[in-house]
Amino acid sequence: MNEVALRFMCDRMLGSLCKWLRFLGFDTLYPPDVNDIMIDQLALNKSRILLTRDRSFLKNARSPKLLIRSLQRDEQIREVDREFNILSISIERKLVLSRCSVCNQSLDEVTKDEINGKVPPGVYEHQHSYWFCPECEKYYWPGTHYMEILNKIETLK
Ligand SMILES: [Zn+2]
Repeated sequence: MNEVALRFMCDRMLGSLCKWLRFLGFDTLYPPDVNDIMIDQLALNKSRILLTRDRSFLKNARSPKLLIRSLQRDEQIREVDREFNILSISIERKLVLSRCSVCNQSLDEVTKDEINGKVPPGVYEHQHSYWFCPECEKYYWPGTHYMEILNKIETLK
């Protein structure tokens, strides 16, 4: 697995951005329902970059941080990209689908033999690469959704 130093913490207004940062392969936390001080502390613990739309939170936060201005998810991704080059890093290091979009866990690569009977037969027939989330016990493969993510990266760059 390709590990990168860039780790993020989204605030609770940025759920969709959080999911996309995980699609791109970045370790990104969506915090539990706790106050700003706790979120800041969680970010600080692992040198996560705090992404927030809240200016007063941003001002007081001690963790590395970036103000997100847009309300649109795609534009939010661009804002993070302008600062941290996440789209190119994701492509160059092959990070797409390296992380579970639901729980943020790193995915394990699994062989086609191991997957037999665990995914729909139509998928099994056509797909040769698979990953598994040990946390959610969910299987991933580079299907339509994977192509959509790659296309989205191209349009955003
Ligand atoms: Zn998971």
